[in-house]
Amino acid sequence: MFRYFMPTEILVGEHVLEQHADALILGKKAMIITGKSSGKQSGALNDVLAILKEKQIGSVVYDQIENNPSLACVHAAGKAARDARADFIIAIGGGSPLDSAKAAAVFAVNDIEPVQIFSGTYPNRPLPIAAVPTTAGTGSEVTPYSILTLHDAGTKRSFTSKEVFPKVAFLDGRYTMGLPLQIARNTAIDAMSHAIEGYLNRKSSPASDPMALEALRLIGRHLPALKNGQFTVESCTDLLWASSLAGIVISQTGTTIVHSMGYQLTYCKDVPHGMANGLLLGAFLEWCQNECAQKIQQILDALNLPNLAALQNELRILLPHPYTFEKEELAEWVNVSIQAKNIATAPKPVTAIDEFTLYCQSLL
Ligand code: NAP
Ligand code: FE
Repeated sequence: MFRYFMPTEILVGEHVLEQHADALILGKKAMIITGKSSGKQSGALNDVLAILKEKQIGSVVYDQIENNPSLACVHAAGKAARDARADFIIAIGGGSPLDSAKAAAVFAVNDIEPVQIFSGTYPNRPLPIAAVPTTAGTGSEVTPYSILTLHDAGTKRSFTSKEVFPKVAFLDGRYTMGLPLQIARNTAIDAMSHAIEGYLNRKSSPASDPMALEALRLIGRHLPALKNGQFTVESCTDLLWASSLAGIVISQTGTTIVHSMGYQLTYCKDVPHGMANGLLLGAFLEWCQNECAQKIQQILDALNLPNLAALQNELRILLPHPYTFEKEELAEWVNVSIQAKNIATAPKPVTAIDEFTLYCQSLL
């Protein structure tokens, strides 16, 4: 048995916002949620504002979204949307603004305690969201997830609600062309990780598997550009589409232990999300190699790499980093990450010793 659900309209291509301007208008007043610089630097904010002006739709720009947004940050964004009497949200940015927009869409119309957002059910239907990704990685534009930093729990935690799937997503490679190279790499590896964790997931299905492999094929095709930084609008659009495909995959399957273990690297060491996954991915694949031999071969074929060692080598080249880790902190992280729900969908049973070994192999 399997199910497939993905209610987001996806529009892809150069100048797609201008060409489908009507699809951006989901109400009478827009709250634009973006990061401090991503909206402006990508050029997407200007394009959105021009369309709203032409259509005579009022808007307020909220650009106070932090990276790995905290519960307090997204609650404040929701309050701002409510104060502005916005009836729809336009999210512009990487996963941080997109995930924040989902939480703000809930808080704007629900007077609940911040922590209640994790329940996933709300008295009032969240505001509709139009999403314009400016990184090619999280796939948040096509997922029902929002990942928030929860200081009380000392980690990141997600909420899931079908009602926060964006109504529409606009993928234009022009918006990711100017990404600093290391952010382009980190985010592409996040998408790779979604495709791999979804493909090897216990919930993988005939609906998600072809999309996972197609995402990996596209990422594999553009590994040279990710190494040398020579992008074209076409390669950027391919990577955005790959990221959305991988997002559709995890919308069906969820992620698994690479993500839940990676959250500790981000929370405790500020390692960027995609890089955190990439540092753990090679050891994860070795760990389940016996159980998933055929599927791992298919992953490598899709990436156009001869063997697992070659993938590990690509990851090393793509993810140079200055971090150092101590054995003691890795043991502490296991105590948190072993509690994550998504260990249940790993390709084989996971023990605390497994996670400790994976951390040590990956990071020491
Ligand atoms: P991000 O935190 O959104 O952005 C990283 C950095 O890139 C920020 O400094 C951002 O600037 C900058 N940036 C973004 N677009 C840019 C552009 N076009 N040009 C120049 N700079 C740009 O990174 P992300 O990897 O996309 O998102 C990570 C978050 O998404 C994490 O919290 C992660 O847990 C979450 N996530 C969510 C899902 C999901 O399904 N919802 C899946 C995976 C990960 P600003 O600070 O100005 O924005
Ligand atoms: Fe991710």
